[in-house]
Amino acid sequence: MRLSGTQADALRELLSRLGKLEGGFYRNKLGGRGIGHDDPQSDFEALPFTSKEELRDTYPLGIAAVPEREIVRIHSSSGTTGTPIIIPYTRKDVDDWAVMFKRCYEMGGVTPDDRVHVTPGYGLWTAGIGFQLGAELLGAMVIPMGPGNTEKQLAMMMDMKSTVLTATSSFALLLAEEIKKRGIKDKIYLKKGIIGSERWGEKMRRRIASELGVKLYDIYGLTEIYGPGIGMSCEFECGMHCWDDYMYFEIIDPKTGNNLPDGEIGELVITTLAKEGAPLIRYRTRDLTRIIPGKCECGSPYPRIDTLIGRTDDMVKVKGVNIYPGQIEDVLRDIDGVSSEYQVMIDHLDGKDIMTLFFETELGASKRGAENAVKAAVKSRIGITVVPMGVAIGELPRSEKKTTRIFDNRY
Ligand code: ZN
Repeated sequence: MRLSGTQADALRELLSRLGKLEGGFYRNKLGGRGIGHDDPQSDFEALPFTSKEELRDTYPLGIAAVPEREIVRIHSSSGTTGTPIIIPYTRKDVDDWAVMFKRCYEMGGVTPDDRVHVTPGYGLWTAGIGFQLGAELLGAMVIPMGPGNTEKQLAMMMDMKSTVLTATSSFALLLAEEIKKRGIKDKIYLKKGIIGSERWGEKMRRRIASELGVKLYDIYGLTEIYGPGIGMSCEFECGMHCWDDYMYFEIIDPKTGNNLPDGEIGELVITTLAKEGAPLIRYRTRDLTRIIPGKCECGSPYPRIDTLIGRTDDMVKVKGVNIYPGQIEDVLRDIDGVSSEYQVMIDHLDGKDIMTLFFETELGASKRGAENAVKAAVKSRIGITVVPMGVAIGELPRSEKKTTRIFDNRY
């Protein structure tokens, strides 16, 4: 996607403001660089990226681009390790976020007649309050539950007649299972589920949808940009529409940093166009997706990114081809007699990269047949030749936490 005239104007204004900000993060980082009128696209793409690590180094309020008295709220991204990232919001930022969130609900057909059950967490984390303010702006009734306490969730869901569930995929699944176990489905009024976007399998999606009897929507966002609510899927379930009047979206090759054409998978990079408290220029999200070319059947003018296929940390480059775990999962899922467990070993032998793909064959399936099928499918769908190695089901390691599946032994 190329910068539109309006987006380029917004960026020029933003960069000029940041350039004047004494001691500001971007004044130091960009040294007054801006984008001109002759070739704004090239000027923009020549600006450096902003990384999560850099934001961490600005703790606590070093990223603030307004006087601190204009900050009305802060949120913090869940730092799994070390220092958290603090994102300051002005009054306008909080309002803009609610406007975007309201748009998400509208994209999902939620109306003022709906009752929105909010289970994402409240507090430093951006999730819960974003879901709440957007629904209130829309005029729907909010049931601000927060996470946990299944008993109370179900009681309120029945008594308040919640029609829209907002949740992570795992919590939605847990609630769906409890509802089934207790046989209370006829007392549940849910019609829609809005699920925070992460990579979650088709199987899980179908289970949640069928057990709750709802239509599911994906919502996208991250604390560093406003929070959830910067993109949402529509009824056609073909990616998530993103609000390009508030942000500019790019896809880059995570290894080289070069911009990729629409349709190609890479790392999502976001630039805020309207944010006051903590504007970000070319922020690397580490989320892997692609820009879906063309217009959506729903007629929305907003561009789409695809459902997330993973994180850049999981990506490897073999023989010039970028490989993501999500792609391998997708290929294996479509092959009969093969389980979803796999492991990849990448070695460098005699000047060549060798990629060995271990996978499990189900009982009774022909190992040789499965190996040939896997090799052909990977070649045609990912474009790389692998050494397929079928093992018996249960032989590959499993763990509750995220299992490491790709072992790069080349370096
Ligand atoms: Zn659409």
